[in-house]
Amino acid sequence: SHIPVITIDGPSGAGKGTVSRLLADKLGWHLLDSGAIYRVLALAAIHHHFSPDDEESLVVLAANLDVKFVSEEERALTHIILEGEDVTLSIRTEEVGNMASKIAALPRVREALLRRQRAFKELPGLIADGRDMGTVVFKDADAKIFLTASAAERAQRRAQQLKQKGFSANIEQLITEIRERDDRDTNRSVAPLKAADDALFVDSTELSIDEVVDKVMTFAHSKL
Ligand code: C5P
Repeated sequence: SHIPVITIDGPSGAGKGTVSRLLADKLGWHLLDSGAIYRVLALAAIHHHFSPDDEESLVVLAANLDVKFVSEEERALTHIILEGEDVTLSIRTEEVGNMASKIAALPRVREALLRRQRAFKELPGLIADGRDMGTVVFKDADAKIFLTASAAERAQRRAQQLKQKGFSANIEQLITEIRERDDRDTNRSVAPLKAADDALFVDSTELSIDEVVDKVMTFAHSKL
C-alpha cells in the first residue's frame, strides 16, 4: 500500500527541525532528520581524523556507519547512538555542522547514504527533513515544503538557543557563518539546496511555529 511522505527542505535555522517533529507527532508518522545522519558521519570522520576531501575513506565510513535512532516514547527526544555511544548532543556543535556540510558536498558520500535514508519510509507515513528530501531522496513525495527565513532571523534564533544553553553569541559572526553554510549548500554540484518545482515555499521570518505548522498541514491535506 502507498506510504505517504511529506518533505521539508530548507537552510539551517529556518525551523525545519521543530516543525517536522510537531508534524510527525500530530500525524503519528515517522521522522527522518537527514541532517543528523550527515552530522553523525561528520563526527565519526572527526574521530578518525579524516580530512573532508578524503572521499575514499568517507564513502567507506558512510557505507559502514553504525548509527541507531532510538526513541523511547513519542514526543521524547530521539537518542542517536554511534557505535554504542550516545552522540545526541555532541553532533550539534558548529564544528560538526561545518564538517557535515563539507562532506555532504561529496557525491559518492551522498549516494552511500541514500538507502539508509529511504529505509525510514514506513507506514503510516514519513516526515523527511533536510536539504534534498523533495528533490533527490523522495522525489515522489506526496507534499513538498521549502521552509526558509532571512539570515538575520535565523542568526537571532540561533543566538537565543545558544543563550539558553548558557553560551554567549555574536550576531554578526553567526550571520557570517550562516551565509557561508548556505553558500556551500546552495552552490555544490550535487543535490544543492533548492526548492523542488512542486514545493510549497514558506518564509518563516515573520511566522510563529504554530503558523508554519498550520500552513504545512493545510497544504499536506490538499495533497494527500
Ligand atoms: O540540518 P543540519 O544543519 O543538521 O545539517 C547539517 C549539514 O548536513 C547541512 O549543512 C548540509 O550540508 C548537510 N545536509 C545535506 N543534506 C541533507 C541534510 C543535511 O547535505 N538532506
